Amino acid sequence: MPEFLDQDIKFLPGVGPRRASLLNSELKIFTFRDLLYYFPFKYVDRTRFYNIKEIDSKLPYIQVKGRITGTEVVGEGRSQRLVAFFTDGTGILELVWFKGIKYVRSTLNTTKQYVVFGKPTEFNGQYNIVHPELEEADNQQGKQVQGYIQAFYNTTEKLKKGFLNSKAILKLQQNLFPLAKGKLKETLPAWLVEKYHLLSLPEAIGNIHFPQNPNALRKAEYRLKFEELFYIQLKILHLKADRQTKFRGHPFTIIGDYFNEFFHNHLPFELTGAQKRVIKEIRKDVGSGKQMNRLLQGDVGSGKTMVGLMTMLMALDNGFQSSMMAPTEILANQHYDSIKKFLGNMSVNVRLLTGSTKKSERKEIHEQLENGELHILIGTHALLEEKVKFKNLGMVIVDEQHRFGVAQRARLWRKNYVPPHVLVMTATPIPRTLAMTVYGDLDVSVIDELPPGRKPIKTMHYFENNRKKVYDFMRKEIEIGRQIYMVYPLISESEKMDFKNLEEGYKHIKTAFPEPKYHVSMVHGKMRPKDKDAEMMRFKNGETNIMVATTVIEVGVDVPNASVMIIESTERFGLSQLHQLRGRVGRGAEQSFCILMSKYKLGAESRKRIETMVATNDGFEIAEADMKLRGPGDIEGTQQSGMAFDMKIANLAKDGQILQYARDIATDILTEDPALAKPENNLLRKQLIALRKNHLNWSSIS
Ligand code: ADP
Ligand code: MG
Repeated sequence: MPEFLDQDIKFLPGVGPRRASLLNSELKIFTFRDLLYYFPFKYVDRTRFYNIKEIDSKLPYIQVKGRITGTEVVGEGRSQRLVAFFTDGTGILELVWFKGIKYVRSTLNTTKQYVVFGKPTEFNGQYNIVHPELEEADNQQGKQVQGYIQAFYNTTEKLKKGFLNSKAILKLQQNLFPLAKGKLKETLPAWLVEKYHLLSLPEAIGNIHFPQNPNALRKAEYRLKFEELFYIQLKILHLKADRQTKFRGHPFTIIGDYFNEFFHNHLPFELTGAQKRVIKEIRKDVGSGKQMNRLLQGDVGSGKTMVGLMTMLMALDNGFQSSMMAPTEILANQHYDSIKKFLGNMSVNVRLLTGSTKKSERKEIHEQLENGELHILIGTHALLEEKVKFKNLGMVIVDEQHRFGVAQRARLWRKNYVPPHVLVMTATPIPRTLAMTVYGDLDVSVIDELPPGRKPIKTMHYFENNRKKVYDFMRKEIEIGRQIYMVYPLISESEKMDFKNLEEGYKHIKTAFPEPKYHVSMVHGKMRPKDKDAEMMRFKNGETNIMVATTVIEVGVDVPNASVMIIESTERFGLSQLHQLRGRVGRGAEQSFCILMSKYKLGAESRKRIETMVATNDGFEIAEADMKLRGPGDIEGTQQSGMAFDMKIANLAKDGQILQYARDIATDILTEDPALAKPENNLLRKQLIALRKNHLNWSSIS
């Protein structure tokens, strides 16, 4: 005999085999417990009764108690309707039915008191409610109907056909809850429930389905959201602590000559406060004897490369090699060039390894890596090849993290017996709540400050029909020596779509900006990498004025003289992608511009995205807006994590505060009792073990 709550849903009064199979297939409700944990998606407050004389058509819903004084069928054909005259002594309200006229009329009784609920509309100074909900004010037990908050449940077409609409589900909850109430075992430790003034589980479940009042509903939601987020955090933090005891890291105990020499004699600018803070965070981490797993978030242009370099110098001071991996050859080249330049005449051996590295050079690099002569290796995926063996790899830096697959990162990790420290740098800001959840077992550093002297990029929105103005502006900018990116969303026209594709755009631009006065280049993803790089170099060297491109230029390319970014068919791009694209400009001293072109008719979401881009340059704000628009499950990087995104009640876009609170409490508990061995944490340990059963091993991924 299964436990009461684990019983098959078909045994619940009012369900039976046919409805049970619908509940199984449509809502994944298999047991009594599943039904109790099927939470409403909204509520309508029916606690308040109005007087008819108070009615106002601005009210979304009203509820009135009164009597029916008479009925009348008026109109003919399709406009035929039943009108019932309803009064509470303060006025008259008309109740109107267009359907089921005969049946409704036969049920109405002028001797009874009713509660009427619905949306009031005004017609000729008279208020009426079409198809109201009507209930007898005295129920069977002779008690007066009380005001209540009504829960609404998501259903599907199939469920509705099986007579399982929201109201029917509520009825099932009403059948189940009184039986289940005494059998619901508390899932949080008693001390925690008491200390943080949470509702007990039965109270919370009861009030989530049948709230006694708005306050009780709020408390029920809070308790259930807290619990959900708390266990996710406890699980993540417990895993992290576990990993840190299992995997010792190389302790970098000293800050030595390389770091100091660089800091005092080679640093070409003063570090920003944020850069200094992050370097300190990293230093503390790598000195601790635990393996560092840190995510460094910083908007485009915030100076992550310098942080990466100084981190690698710490490794070198402690006798370790480092590697820095970039997602494209062009970026690897760029890192190599700037790091060589930063280091100047310091005796640090830095090499570059990419797909185009010559065989002889490659051999030399392999040798130097194995005998330890090579200090810093910069490169692309080529770094992951079997042949690349380090003597003592102590630090791995991965740039632009979202370009790399999880499996690839795991391969770098395995290059050593003692895993190297890992610093993942990303310019795609992740909202805090997501970072705490998806990357919750990583430590997160944030560079939230741009180097001084940058002029914020000016962003403007133009409709297609103002193209001429945009071209005039482009000519003026070219005149004063600037370069321009133009980005298109497609490579070739696959379907009959009404937006410009790249090749067409290219031809068009060539005509509007003709040789020999102007030079235009084009890059796209279908080109051979060699040709692509050659075109990029032409632009970088200032040989071309305009770079027509697809999103291949999205990632980290640095051309300080390019100060205008024009995005075609902006409505086709996601917010984070737009922000990345915009980050290609604003790297030099001149005022930069981002021009968003779009068609005239825009959907609400596209409009919101464009407005957000025009309103702010802040990557974190944009990430938050993106999450609110699309929902946490659609944000880049979350799908692959498999981490608890089927949350039942908490919402990462809205419940950041509860999340932070839950995380802090989980942290405190684990600090005091890392193994959850104390008797009062017994329940927590058991819940964790249950949660681990469906756990994906995220610990060795970064
Ligand atoms: P990202 O974070 O996008 O990778 P980069 O590391 O490419 O940014 O830095 C962008 C530019 O800003 C580079 O030219 C870099 O040399 C410069 N830079 C970095 N830090 C500072 C600073 N503290 N002061 C002035 N310029 C800086
Ligand atoms: Mg970068």
